[in-house]
This record gives sequence, C-alpha cells and structure tokens, in this order.
Amino acid sequence: MARVVQKFGGSSVADADSIKRVAKRIVATKQAGHEVVVVISAMGDTTDELMDLAFRVSPQPAPRELDMLLTAGERMSAALLAMAIGDQGLSARSFTGSQAGVITTGTHGNARIIDITPGRIVSALQTGDVVIVAGFQGVSQDTKDITTIGRGGSDTTAVALAASLGADYCEIYTDVDGVFTADPRIAPNARRIPRISYEEMLEMAACGAKILHLRCVEYARREHVPVHVRSSFTTKEGTWVTDLEEGSVMEQAIISGVAHDRGEAKITITGVPDRIGEAARVFEAIASIEVNIDMIVQNVSAVSTGRTDISFTLPKTDGKVAVAALNAIKEEVGFDDILYDDQIGKVSVVGVGMRSHPGVTAKFFAALAEAEVNIEMISTSEIRISVVVDQDDVDRAVRAAHTAFGLDSEEQAVVYAGTGR
Ligand code: ADP
Ligand code: ASP
Ligand code: MG
Repeated sequence: MARVVQKFGGSSVADADSIKRVAKRIVATKQAGHEVVVVISAMGDTTDELMDLAFRVSPQPAPRELDMLLTAGERMSAALLAMAIGDQGLSARSFTGSQAGVITTGTHGNARIIDITPGRIVSALQTGDVVIVAGFQGVSQDTKDITTIGRGGSDTTAVALAASLGADYCEIYTDVDGVFTADPRIAPNARRIPRISYEEMLEMAACGAKILHLRCVEYARREHVPVHVRSSFTTKEGTWVTDLEEGSVMEQAIISGVAHDRGEAKITITGVPDRIGEAARVFEAIASIEVNIDMIVQNVSAVSTGRTDISFTLPKTDGKVAVAALNAIKEEVGFDDILYDDQIGKVSVVGVGMRSHPGVTAKFFAALAEAEVNIEMISTSEIRISVVVDQDDVDRAVRAAHTAFGLDSEEQAVVYAGTGR
C-alpha cells in the first residue's frame, strides 16, 4: 500500500463528465489498495473568469476579497468531485485549504506556504475516506484571512501536502503527456522527457514553463518528493521529476528543453547619471514595493553626457506600480525618462550539459538569427541562457532553438484539452 497525492488541473475537470472520469481514476487508485489524497484545481478557466468578473466590478479589486472570490473556484470542484466519488461507491470528503491545515503568509494573491497541519486529513485517511483538498489556497497565520498562493499554485499545494503526509510520490495530472522539451502547443514535435532533475525542472519552471508551478518544484527538491507529471486522459507513463542520478542519461543531453514566458515586461530608464549609488537607488525603489526583477542590462555611459540607460524585466502584473515608484524618484535621481514595453517575450534554453559543453550560446544565437529573431536582452546562469525578444517572435524563436539543438521528434505531441489560457 502506498500513500499517494494526486493533483488534477483545471482542464482535467472542465465539466461534469470530466469530473466523473477523474473520479473513476481516483476510485481505481483507492481500490488498488492505496491511500489517496487529491488536490483539485478550479474547473476549466474558472479562475480567469472570476478574475475578469472582479475587474468588471472594480478596477482595483481589494486583494483580500479577490482571494475570497478565487478560492471559491477550487471549493466548487472539490465538492463536486467528492459527490462523484460518492456515487461510485466510495466515501470521499472535501476540505478547503484552511480546513486541510495549509498555513500561509499574509500576502494576498501570492502567499507562501509556511506550514501544514494535516490533522483532519490524517484522521479522514484513517477512517478510509478519499480526501479531496481545494488547491491553491490557505489561511494566513497572522490575519486568519483566506489567501491564494499564486496562479498555478495547486501544484504546490499537492507537493506540500505530499511532503507533510510522507506520501510515497505526488502525481500531477494535466492535459499533456508529461514535461516536454518545449510547450507542445508551440512546438508540436516536442518530445516527452521521461525523467528530469529537480534542478533542470526548476530552471524550466522559472523560465515560464507553466507545466509545473515554480514553488512546487522548489518544495519537491527541498523535501525530496518524487513528482510524476502525466496526462489525466491516458494511462501512459509521464515524466518523473527527481534527484539527478550520477552518470544518468540526462547528463549527456546538452539542452534538455526550451522554455518561454510571455508574462514579463521591460522597463528602460534613460539618461541615468553615471554616479556611484544611482543604480542602487533605482532598484531600492523597486524592492520597496516588493517587485521581483529578472534580467538587468546597463549600458556603458556615453562619454559626452556621462549618462547611461538601465533596462530590466519584471512581471507584467507589476508594471504599473513599478513605473509609479520610479516616477516618484525621477527628480531625486535625475534620469530623463521611463519607457515601458509589455510586448516582449523571454525564450530560454536549459540543460545541465551546458556546464561542460562550449558553444551553446553561439548555436542558440545563430538559430535565432537564421529565424530572423532580434535579441533585445540576454542573461545566463550555469545551466540556462535566456533572451528577450519581441512577443511576436516568441513561437518562431522556440521552434528554431528546439530544432537547432536536435530536440525535434518524429512524432506529434498530443494536447488533450485546455485552452492554453
Ligand atoms: P493544469 O490546468 O493541468 O495545471 P497548465 O495549463 O497549468 O495545466 O499546464 C499544462 C500546460 O503547460 C500544457 O497544456 C502546455 O501547454 C504547457 N507547457 C508549457 N511548457 C511545457 C512543457 N515544457 N512541457 C509540457 N507542457 C508545457
Ligand atoms: N485555479 C488556479 C489557477 O488557475 C490554481 C491552479 O489551477 O493551480 O491559477
Ligand atoms: Mg497548472
């Protein structure tokens, strides 16, 4: 007997029939003799629809109320799934994140899980029930308000629960057959990666591969939770995300995947006086509003003016507040202007093999040039190279890099459901 956490994403429970289909799968796991804890997402595009609704009611919804609203989506699917499992002859009980003991920080919309007190889950398991937990939500330790843990956060709920319950593994059921070498919606000849290290998956997720939530991978790596990403529409083996094994096949691959991200924007501050401490002042202003920045480029200052330009990228959702914070220090720093561009995309190649193989950058850039993609910014880590390009060039850049690194497969990847929203 194993203790298993199974997470089903929104596209796997988009309507009544899908909920019954997922219920069947859970019942089969339970009947095979395992203890099952299920983490469930909101149905289909419910979260986006609730978000749209909130913005139609108010241009700036109060973050506390937005969390109350969004968590309702997961609560609906949890209850519906429990009903469907009940109809198939097993006893199931649904819990909100708060009832399941998911304790978080108080940052609405992007809270962090700080503890799990799974008392109620453990007792429900002891009485033989299937436990269903509403994903992506918790309760703030300080304010006791309901929080959400960031878009795509149900993956993190699942891994955090798996860690705290000492589960044998965590299954993430979704609308594709696993983690692929690129998003199959963009690169149809992407190939499934049978096994990937936490480290590489972390870079892929950080670079926008939304197949797994970034914090979920961080959690899994820290707690050594084996994660199996697979399709809820087939019984095929998917991708195992685990520790890197010595001398494994993975180490041979120079590039394990290409990731892209359309969620960032670029801010350029022009004419910044080239004096010690000015860059610090600019980034202190951004840090004080708790915005995370990603890439930074500073040019050499022009000799004639003694001024330089600084560009950086940040999540699009933080664009407005960041521009406002910079405007507030414009006089003090004495720069010329702020340019804001949200029509950009980031494309990254990721692979541990890069450490020992020279020429990866040259190959990547040559592929982009051949595809007539202009590079606006560049950043690298030990196992990643990222570029910022025009949003319209993202798909072409992903496909060009995928082909250049020999990742193309003969077979077409299947996308079973979902709108890709
Ligand atoms: P869920 O609703 O199950 O959480 P998501 O939409 O969050 O599903 O994530 C699954 C989607 O992630 C896929 O449909 C695919 O378009 C996208 N994706 C992005 N990068 C990858 C990748 N490298 N491998 C597989 N899927 C990817
Ligand atoms: N429903 C939430 C979202 O769409 C959380 C999740 O699905 O993981 O972001
Ligand atoms: Mg997801």
